[in-house]
Amino acid sequence: MSAKGELAARAEGGVTGARGPDAIHPVARLPEEWQAVMAALGERPYRAGQIFRAIHGRGVLEPGQMTDLSAPLRARLIEAGFTAPARVGDVHRAADGTRKLVLELGGGARVECVLIPMTGSAEPDADLGALADDDDDEVEPETETEEPRKRITLCVSTQFGCAMGCVFCASGQAGLLRGLGAAEIVAQVLIARQYLEPREYLRNLVFMGMGEPLHHYEETARAIRLITHPEGLNMGPRRITVSTVGLAAGIRRLGEDFDGKVGLAISLHAPDDATRDRIIPINRRYPLSELLDALRRYPLPRRRRITIEYTLIEGVNDSPEQARALLRTLRGLRVKVNLIAMNRIAASKLGAPAPARVEQFRSVLTDGGLSCFVRARRGDDVSAACGQLALSGDLARARRG
Ligand code: SF4
Repeated sequence: MSAKGELAARAEGGVTGARGPDAIHPVARLPEEWQAVMAALGERPYRAGQIFRAIHGRGVLEPGQMTDLSAPLRARLIEAGFTAPARVGDVHRAADGTRKLVLELGGGARVECVLIPMTGSAEPDADLGALADDDDDEVEPETETEEPRKRITLCVSTQFGCAMGCVFCASGQAGLLRGLGAAEIVAQVLIARQYLEPREYLRNLVFMGMGEPLHHYEETARAIRLITHPEGLNMGPRRITVSTVGLAAGIRRLGEDFDGKVGLAISLHAPDDATRDRIIPINRRYPLSELLDALRRYPLPRRRRITIEYTLIEGVNDSPEQARALLRTLRGLRVKVNLIAMNRIAASKLGAPAPARVEQFRSVLTDGGLSCFVRARRGDDVSAACGQLALSGDLARARRG
């Protein structure tokens, strides 16, 4: 089978529908599913928790390294096909401390995840790391003698390529090859933790890498359940932000399934349907009225806000009139706006407005009473900034098959 065919087949077969525990990748199994597997193997029930904690607590992705298991059980897990869902291909480090990991997955897919230091000097909302950062009460206490710990935000991918086709985005220009399984999404977190430096800790997680997480809802939701599980990584749901281009049905499901505790970021990028249709094709299916209705109904906890991502593209969506239209569009919603000057991508002639134009847009919004920040560009020199998370060479090769 060609690489393209194999990838497409995995995308068809691997991501949806009810599956028995055996059919779920071991790294994506919840403790109760491990219990069913252990029972079928005639193993003691406590082994289920032991394996889950080894994977999600200690980040062990190969059964051969689970040395607290008996040798015969390790062998049975290997025999059953338990292998690591991802391996590190390359690591790139930007001057600002951003680290991009290129991970190799099954079937020739490669995705990126990015570790982003949260800058102490930046405005609190001025970088990606602040997306899930409204409340500060989960910061671990420091003693006076210790250096402060550095907060890291991890940006993960959910698909290899993306079907949404946003015109300013490298992943969108390449198209969708396949969705990632929950095991492959969680593996990005488990592997990225190994790249934390001394005194760094993983503070926030954003589903903002390659792909549209709500176009791939089941695996995204399972990954969130695994990452927030108290016996595993135990990350608070409000430290997690799912970024979507505005799939209203998925927003409704996410709100219901996680009681609104998971943060939401909307890639809005335009104040009206006519402009949005031009740059975000999915807007024709979910027009602004439906998206805004889903946002109004999202069960946001008190003191939390939805993040509105707005990439400024020169001559397309960056005029003061459009800023005023955006004020009207967002009226009545609990939101904060992140403005991002477009990152140039090879597949597009579009570009960023001049800094003065960005500032003009920002001041219209803040004068109108909106909380608004210009997002710092992080990791530009390793193509790790927003809309650049596409291994365009890999995608093109896989597409050619
Ligand atoms: S911006 Fe997001 S949704 Fe749009 S094409 Fe890129 S990855 Fe897909």
